[in-house]
Amino acid sequence: MGDTIFSKIIKREIPADIVYETENVLAFRDIKPQAPVHILIIPKIEIPKVTDIDGKQHAQLLGELFDAANKLARDFKIDQDGFRLVFNCGNNGGQDVYHLHMHLLGGRQMKWPPG
Ligand code: AMP
Repeated sequence: MGDTIFSKIIKREIPADIVYETENVLAFRDIKPQAPVHILIIPKIEIPKVTDIDGKQHAQLLGELFDAANKLARDFKIDQDGFRLVFNCGNNGGQDVYHLHMHLLGGRQMKWPPG
């Protein structure tokens, strides 16, 4: 297991506002929310970034991340109005934490193009 801030959250070495957990997936509120609902959904195994995903090897896990996003969207009542899912990848993508994570953002109108 790596030593990113998210692996420390998985190991309960630092606190987080955890809103969902399964054997393979953890979700918690972003510490610096950019929308009324801003949740990070992460695999428990260490995959640093999108370019480290192997479609065949990780297919089920990726499905579980999307299942978590849909469940959380329902739980937080943003499924009807809509929401945004974001994976930032690498420097130009604006990735700060190198443990794969999906941002679930909702509760307000999103803008396009993104910043
Ligand atoms: P990214 O820029 O895509 O790597 O996103 C990293 C996200 O992690 C940012 O939105 C941060 O606000 C969030 N973040 C950083 N540290 C924590 C933490 N300890 N608990 C919850 N969210 C965090």
